[in-house]
Amino acid sequence: MRKPFIAGNWKMNTDRRGAVGLATGLAQELRDIETVDIAVCPPFVYLDAVAGALNSSNIALGAQDVYFEPNGAFTGEISCAMLKDVGCTYAIVGHSERRHKIGETDELINKKISAAISSGLLPILCVGELLEQRQADKTEAVVTTQIKAGLAGLHSDKVLAVTVAYEPVWAIGTGVTATAEQAQEVHAMIRGLLADMYDQSVAGQIRIQYGGSAKPANTAELMACGDVDGLLVGGASLKVDDFAAMIKTVA
Ligand code: PEP
Repeated sequence: MRKPFIAGNWKMNTDRRGAVGLATGLAQELRDIETVDIAVCPPFVYLDAVAGALNSSNIALGAQDVYFEPNGAFTGEISCAMLKDVGCTYAIVGHSERRHKIGETDELINKKISAAISSGLLPILCVGELLEQRQADKTEAVVTTQIKAGLAGLHSDKVLAVTVAYEPVWAIGTGVTATAEQAQEVHAMIRGLLADMYDQSVAGQIRIQYGGSAKPANTAELMACGDVDGLLVGGASLKVDDFAAMIKTVA
């Protein structure tokens, strides 16, 4: 049985005060939730402050990215050890905004996934097709390539550390959500792919989140799909009431 996992991606939003306030409000609102794994991913510079606000709560801390090298001359980058040092459990890797706006490649994403797992971080590997790729019937091909490349070289004992987030790019931050049928179709395809790459047992244990304009109003419908194990939430994770309502719906 896969425990639902809901994570909030705050992107490049909040300031120190807002980040601490959001974390404090969520910790208070969600203190009784035991049946859902919860994480928030603030901007790097507020991780430490948010870690303090989440102290001894049931909400884990995640980063929005990580670099694969352990240390050295990599100006602007943040290592796995640094993230662990400030209390991170998770790291988002390969978010579509990093793939398409910053230019991250599958090869780089694979290095980040491997480094995160080796250091004990739990990576959330984001995959998903652009609108034109969906319209050209390329969703399966695109997502398959991203997953095979992202997980290249990882054996089954390591891959169990990964959460996959299926995030159709056309649904991220647009207010357009994939229908439950569209989400389930791709999630089931991803699980089948993981079974081919590893085995049924591994595929049955890996959690697959949906992301793309998830909000309180569509949470129940998305989470009712057999292969949707959680949500990666952007905009709606910036409001205590909305994010808490989604988690309570799932719980
Ligand atoms: C995201 O940032 O991963 C995301 C899904 O954003 P939104 O919920 O705002 O579409």
